[in-house]
Amino acid sequence: MSSFMDTKVEFLKGVGPAKAKLLNEELGIQTFHDLIHHFPFRYEDRSQFQTISQIQPDSENVQIKGVIDRVEVVGAARKQRLTAVFRDATGQIELIWFKGAKWMKTKLKPGIPYIVYGKPSLFQTKFSISHPEIEVMTPANEAGKKTMLPVYPTTEKLKRKFVDSKAIAKLQMELIKTKGFGVPETVDEVIRSQMGLLDLNTALRDIHFPRNLSSRNSALERLKFDELFFIQLKIFREKSDQKEIHKGIIFQKSHLVREFYEKHIPFELTESQKQVIKEIYTDLQSGYQMNRLLQGDVGSGKTITAFVCMLIAIGSGFQTTIMAPTEILAIQHFQGLEEFCDKLGLKIGLITGSTKKSLRKKYLEDLASGEMKILVGTHALIENDVQFDRLGLAVIDEQHRFGVAQRAKLWQKNKHVYPHVLVMTATPIPRTLAMTLYGDLEVSTIRELPKGRKPIKTSHLYDSSRLKLFGFIQKEIDLGRQIYVVYPLIEESSTLDYKDLMDGYESISRAFPRIPLSILHGRMKAKDKDFEMDRFVRGETKIMVATTVIEVGVNVPNASVMVIENSERFGLSQLHQLRGRVGRGADQSYCILMTGSKISKEARERIGCMVATTDGFEIAEKDLELRGPGDLMGTQQSGLLDLKVADLTTDGELLKRARALAEGIISEDPELKSSIHERIARHLNKNQIATLKWSAIS
Ligand code: ADP
Ligand code: MG
Repeated sequence: MSSFMDTKVEFLKGVGPAKAKLLNEELGIQTFHDLIHHFPFRYEDRSQFQTISQIQPDSENVQIKGVIDRVEVVGAARKQRLTAVFRDATGQIELIWFKGAKWMKTKLKPGIPYIVYGKPSLFQTKFSISHPEIEVMTPANEAGKKTMLPVYPTTEKLKRKFVDSKAIAKLQMELIKTKGFGVPETVDEVIRSQMGLLDLNTALRDIHFPRNLSSRNSALERLKFDELFFIQLKIFREKSDQKEIHKGIIFQKSHLVREFYEKHIPFELTESQKQVIKEIYTDLQSGYQMNRLLQGDVGSGKTITAFVCMLIAIGSGFQTTIMAPTEILAIQHFQGLEEFCDKLGLKIGLITGSTKKSLRKKYLEDLASGEMKILVGTHALIENDVQFDRLGLAVIDEQHRFGVAQRAKLWQKNKHVYPHVLVMTATPIPRTLAMTLYGDLEVSTIRELPKGRKPIKTSHLYDSSRLKLFGFIQKEIDLGRQIYVVYPLIEESSTLDYKDLMDGYESISRAFPRIPLSILHGRMKAKDKDFEMDRFVRGETKIMVATTVIEVGVNVPNASVMVIENSERFGLSQLHQLRGRVGRGADQSYCILMTGSKISKEARERIGCMVATTDGFEIAEKDLELRGPGDLMGTQQSGLLDLKVADLTTDGELLKRARALAEGIISEDPELKSSIHERIARHLNKNQIATLKWSAIS
């Protein structure tokens, strides 16, 4: 950044200390650099004039030229308003002022030409514009008006101090005209022309004051490109550095895998599962440490896929671990894998917060001696006293629930060399987001569900149809199935949400007096939770009334109905996760989304999307569109993904181009030493470019 752009905004003509303080407090603008990067969020398009006959009932703001015919004050004394008939060659329209009628009357001169700007509204058959912007037309402003006027984000406090959008526009203009204005170019000429990009200073000027829509679009594209390109460049650079540094353990083909395939595997793996295992196996032999994300929809069979990879590691004499986000899930993994391990003669252990001391001690001994081959657990297994002899592969299930720091601790469980890492998620991540978020992870995807699964039928019911719901539940129970009824628990501490859950439980017990029920929520002791979950898993209870603690991973194949109460309060990905708890057996399964009669437009869209599709990737795309990328996975709060102009929902194409370019550059010139990469190297080295590092080893 040049020193000019570091100048305090206070020194800009028209600012001064008081205004500078306000700009800083309200908008975080401290320097010229900050100011010029405070971009308009929309423009008033004054690049064209409309004729009065072109005005339509749904017209946005229009700009028209014409003359005033007749001006009159109408209405009773206190409710006076001023109306003026405004006409051009094609028709007429009424201009109305409810405030300042008398003063306005002295200003408006019939017969001379004016430029009028405002939003027309239709009353009965006549169009009118209230409180339009109006100016006497001169040859100069007729031409000068043909621009796009920037509209800036501002705050109520700033507006009260007269720093409204117009005032900000004035400051921007002042800044651009100031002698010395300019930022250092960040992308070398050769690359700019190759990519068809504007130079940066023109882009910065045009983003504030474009001549027309197309010049604004070119400016925006350049700025978006910078944002996306440098993130990608950084990702590829780090990836290439990492390859240098992080040698990885090389695993050999293993007899264990063959034995498992030939004798014990209970079903044929899907093509997707086989493909993913191949990809992972290639990594495990590459000599570099693997950092791979395995994504696959709920029920796609990630666990067994990971297990096969664990067998590869064990076959080469290493230990493995699988970490789950909840105790319930860890127990399920343990129970599922224990069966296979018994057959293969492998020692497996489980460590959670509630593992008994004596057992834990025994496990830790077996782990340190290398006898224990698989350790399953919750985050309890990253504690310091959990020491492996030779950890070769760490699998993390449902990764977004773990913090980066927790992951990093796991990496360090092998003192000599970093273990390979496989991160699994059932939250499908749209491609554009994956490229940006997980740029430093390789991504494998299980695209198909195991054969024979029937798509879950989803419907939306209003609370008023509760009797119908109860009838349906009874029918399914009579068929021998089990039911989930889930209540939102947005915050662990919300007493109201608990009350909802308890009320729901009561009404279900009244409706089904002879049916055994389970209840599960976050305030219960771990022991009681397990007890209830266990009864449900064994089929002793038929209905599980729960909060979202059951969200992740739980597997009860006999459960065929998922009822989600107050479903309008859930996000799309959460709804999809919950729905994935059913449809795991051979029976037709159902998901019923309950809502009150009044729900917001967005909630309606979410529910519509759930009813329309069961494809997790489609749902993820919709989620991205509805919520915006920053909100997905809580990246917004942590400030991890701070995109200013680029929009991952719509800029996928540009992202792809930027990514391909970055990849090409780094593979040809990893150190960025070539003279045609001089500017990008300087920018990359000088600036903090925010990327997310899942594989970070801190
Ligand atoms: P997720 O990907 O959601 O973690 P799981 O690994 O829990 O899914 O698998 C869901 C269910 O599907 C399990 O009961 C598992 O045994 C079963 N499963 C996995 N792969 C296959 C397959 N290829 N054919 C049939 N069933 C499978
Ligand atoms: Mg799972």
